[in-house]
Amino acid sequence: MTTITETKTKTYLNYINGEWVASETGKTDVSKNPARKDEVVGGYQLSSTKDFDKAATAARKAQKAWQKLSGNVRGDYLLKAASIMEERADDIGAAMTLEMGKTFPEAKGETLRGVAILRYFAGEGMRSVGDVIPSTDSEALMFTTRVPLGVVGVITPWNFPAAIPMWKMAPALIYGNAVVFKPASETAVTSAKIVECLHDAGIPAGVVNMVTGSGSLIGPEMANHKEIDGITFTGSNTVGKQLAKIAVDRGIKYQLEMGGKNPVIVANDADLDLAVEATISGGLKSSGQKCTATSRVIVQKDIYEKFKEKLLAEVAKITVGDGMDAGTWMGPSVTEGQLNTVLSYIEKGKKEGATLLYGGNELDGKDGGLNGYYVEPAVFEGVTPDMVLAREEIFGPVLALMKVDTIEEALDMANDSEYGLSASIFTTKIAHMLSFINEMDAGLVRINAESAGVELQAPFGGMKQSSSHSREQGQAAKEFYTSIKTVFIK
Ligand code: NAP
Repeated sequence: MTTITETKTKTYLNYINGEWVASETGKTDVSKNPARKDEVVGGYQLSSTKDFDKAATAARKAQKAWQKLSGNVRGDYLLKAASIMEERADDIGAAMTLEMGKTFPEAKGETLRGVAILRYFAGEGMRSVGDVIPSTDSEALMFTTRVPLGVVGVITPWNFPAAIPMWKMAPALIYGNAVVFKPASETAVTSAKIVECLHDAGIPAGVVNMVTGSGSLIGPEMANHKEIDGITFTGSNTVGKQLAKIAVDRGIKYQLEMGGKNPVIVANDADLDLAVEATISGGLKSSGQKCTATSRVIVQKDIYEKFKEKLLAEVAKITVGDGMDAGTWMGPSVTEGQLNTVLSYIEKGKKEGATLLYGGNELDGKDGGLNGYYVEPAVFEGVTPDMVLAREEIFGPVLALMKVDTIEEALDMANDSEYGLSASIFTTKIAHMLSFINEMDAGLVRINAESAGVELQAPFGGMKQSSSHSREQGQAAKEFYTSIKTVFIK
C-alpha cells in the first residue's frame, strides 16, 4: 500500500497571476477520500466571482506577451512542466486515487498520460499552422495563419483530473492563449498539484490561473466574463448546455465534451476471450466512471450463452477495494451521491423487468470491512432498448446485456441512443467491421478493442448529444484554440 501523508491536511490555494493566494471569501472546503469515508485528502478555496475576476484580468494582461513568444519558447515551458510532472507522478497519482478512487496504477498511468500530452503539444509549437493558397492575382501572396483566441476558460470533471485538464490547457497554451482553470471540486487537490508543475516550470505570471470552488457559481461567471474569449468544458450534458447558451449569447467560441452510453457489439464470430476481457475492462475499470465506459453489451444470439457464462465467471473475480491497495482491481464510486445514483439505477433496472445476473449490492463496513462508497459490479440481462438501463448514462459499474439475431439489428440497437461518444465491435469478419465503421454514429469506433481507449495524438469527441461536435486532442485541438486568418499581400 502506498501512503502519501503530505497530501493530507494541507489546504491548497488559488493560483492567480503567478501567486498562490487564498480566496477573498476566507472560506475553504475539503476533498474527501471515497475509499475511507470522512478521511480528508486536502482543503481548497471556496472562491467568489471576485476571485475569478482577478484571475481573468491577470490572464488578459499576460496573454499578449505570451502570444508574442515563439512557439518553441512556449513549448520549452511545457517540456519543463512535463519533466516536473513525471518526477511527481507517484505523488500526483496518489492524490488522484485518494480523491476520486481509481486504482493507483490507473491514476499514475493517467498522470503519465498528462506528461505525454504536454510533450506532444510542446512539439506543436514547431509545426506549421497554415497553408499557402494560390491567389487569382499573380502579383499577390495569399496564405493562412492562426492566432490564439485570447483567454480561454477551462472547466473539467473529476473522473480524469490530470489528463483532461492537460489536454485542454496544453494546446491552449502552445497556441498562445492564457488560461483560467476551474477544476472539479472533488479533485481540487490533484488539480493544484498539476498547476504546481506549470508554476515550477516558470510559466510567466498570469498565463495560467486556477480558481477552485462551486461550479454553479464560478462556471456561469466564467462564461459571462468579458475577459473570457472561449470556453472548453468536459462534464455533464445539463451543465454543458447551460454554458453553451451563454457562450452563444456572448458570441464566444465554446467546446463541450459530455456524456456517453457506449455500446459494444459481440458478433457470433468474435474472439470470445478478447470480447469478454475488453467488455470488463471497458465497462468496469474506474468503477465505470469514464465517459467512454462500455455500458450496453449487444451480443449475437449464437455466442450469447458462452459469452455470458465467461463474462460472469470473470466478473466474479473482480476485487473491489481501496485503490491504494495493490490487490484492488476496482475502487469506490467517487462520492456518496454517485454511489446512490448507481444503486438507484440498479433498482430501476430490476423494477423495469431486467434480470440482475450478478452483483449490484452496496459493499460497506458490514461486508468485508470496507468503509467507503463501494458497489459490486452489476451485470443485467434481458435489457430492452426502451429501459432506463439502456438509455441513461449511469457512470457506474453496470453492464446491460442485450441479445440480437443479426449484425444489422445490433447496429440499429447500438445507434438507438441520444449519445454517440464511443463504440466497439468484436468480430473477425471484415464485412462486419466495414458496416460498423460506416454506420455506427459515434466519434470513436473501435474494432476488437475496448470502448474506453483514447490516444492523445488522435482526435477525440462525440456525435449527437455527446459533444458540441468539436474535437479535442491531436491536431484537431488547433481548431478550437485558434482562429484562422487569411492573409493577402500585394
Ligand atoms: P458536472 O457536474 O457537469 O461537473 C463538471 C465540471 O463542471 C466541474 O468542474 C463542476 O464544478 C462544473 N460545474 C458544475 N456546475 C456548473 C455550472 N452550473 N456551470 C459551470 N460549471 C459547472 O459533471 P461531473 O459529474 O463532474 O462529470 C461527469 C460527467 O462528465 C459525465 O456525464 C461524463 O460522461 C462526462 N465526461 C465526459 C467526457 C468526455 O470527454 N466526453 C470525459 C469525462 C467525463 P464542481 O465540481 O465544483 O461542481
